[in-house]
Amino acid sequence: MKMVFLGPPGAGKGTLAAMASEHLSIPHISTGDLFRAAIKNETELGKKVKEILAEGRLVPDDLTIALVRERLAQPDVKNGWILDGFPRTIPQAEALQQISPVEKVVNFDVEDSVILFRLTGRRVCKSCGKIYHIVTMPPKNEGICDACGGALYIRSDDQESAIKTRLEAYRSLTAPLIQWYGERSLLVTIDGAGKPDDVFQIFVKAIKG
Ligand code: AMP
Repeated sequence: MKMVFLGPPGAGKGTLAAMASEHLSIPHISTGDLFRAAIKNETELGKKVKEILAEGRLVPDDLTIALVRERLAQPDVKNGWILDGFPRTIPQAEALQQISPVEKVVNFDVEDSVILFRLTGRRVCKSCGKIYHIVTMPPKNEGICDACGGALYIRSDDQESAIKTRLEAYRSLTAPLIQWYGERSLLVTIDGAGKPDDVFQIFVKAIKG
């Protein structure tokens, strides 16, 4: 199954994509994670996008599409994939139809107050990328990843000013994809406001239908 997870920042795409990836045995590809890895490794791409990510703006389409094209050429995607955070613009969606057409788009519907609560409380493991929330999904030991013992950090774009920019980018550039994929009969919208396990059950039912 070739799947796209769509939704505003903080909709739970990353958390659910990790669960769905394990359930369906297909890779979870997060463009945000790929950009953050490039920044951490100080690659040419990383240097170009560092400031853009910190400010919460979108990386230009040509760079993002090239990154996804390269990732989808790797052998582990032959049985499908879950793209989390891509596409985020209509030109990106058009490019994806050329590279490898998506079969299902899952749109996570979550209201603004929940988004803000999730983003401001989010903590991420520096080593393995596991996502926590200080209130709803705290680690057993404060600041330390349960899975690998790595240090937890606050993403630079989870600061209030960057959150505002990211939500604006979502509304103006990404939200139009809901209609775009709806018109192509690829879209299923699910309520993403609940706890991860509950949203996962809704997701499993939705993709069967
Ligand atoms: P995410 O982890 O999905 O929230 O992405 C973090 C940041 O990476 C975004 O705020 C953008 O700066 C950048 N990014 C990730 N995916 C894309 C995309 N498809 N198009 C443009 N920028 C992206």
